[in-house]
Amino acid sequence: MLDGAIVRRIGLPMEEAVVRRSRAAVGGTVLASRLALEHGVAFNTAGGSHHAFSAYGAGYCVFNDVAVASKVLLEERRVKSVLIIDLDVHQGDGTAEILRREGRAFTFSMHCEENFPKIKQRSDRDVALPAGTGDAEYLAVLGSELSALLPRVSPDLVLYNAGVDPHREDRLGKLALSDAGLEARERAVIGACRLHGVPVACVVGGGYDLDVEIIARRHMIVHRQARAVVGQTYATARGERATSETFPTSQGGPSVSD
Ligand SMILES: [Zn+2]
Repeated sequence: MLDGAIVRRIGLPMEEAVVRRSRAAVGGTVLASRLALEHGVAFNTAGGSHHAFSAYGAGYCVFNDVAVASKVLLEERRVKSVLIIDLDVHQGDGTAEILRREGRAFTFSMHCEENFPKIKQRSDRDVALPAGTGDAEYLAVLGSELSALLPRVSPDLVLYNAGVDPHREDRLGKLALSDAGLEARERAVIGACRLHGVPVACVVGGGYDLDVEIIARRHMIVHRQARAVVGQTYATARGERATSETFPTSQGGPSVSD
């Protein structure tokens, strides 16, 4: 039985369905991570509960699936290092806290400065974007970060939180990405992982609208773009078509801490 204050902090009713879903989401991210090592790209169609801390859940997150999956794969010695790329509009504060002393896990969070949580934790790298940041600047900063981080960390696995709440019509996010911007974002992340030969396990993260179908469609973007990127890679391997991934450099603007 959870303490009432913790239940309020989580923000979800502690019912059997929530408990089962929370456990399944963790198992799903562990499985997706293992499948990514086998197949290159894999997904959990849940997960991304990045506000859950080691001692308690928070912000609609019960268990931190990405942090648990990182620990499991590291402890099983399936990987020597993992890179967490968290592009949900909210900072991955719980992930940062849980993995703070885990030298084999590098946490990267790119989020909106003005969004929840008010008190940010310190990831290995944080990029806090100003409210209203749109496609062009967002993608420029992301490209710069990806092309620096992947060679620097040289991970055996990337865990990618593909939260869609940076969308301009999201009810909780304060960034301004379009559908095309989200598509380009997913191509950039998965393309960069493919380019560096790093397996990537994706989780859906946040996304808020009263119309569930709208959110479901936004979450589908990462799956569709991954399929396109993987198809392109196979075509290249067969010599059918040359591809090149280019990442524009940052034009400045966001505050960056490292
Ligand atoms: Zn979020």
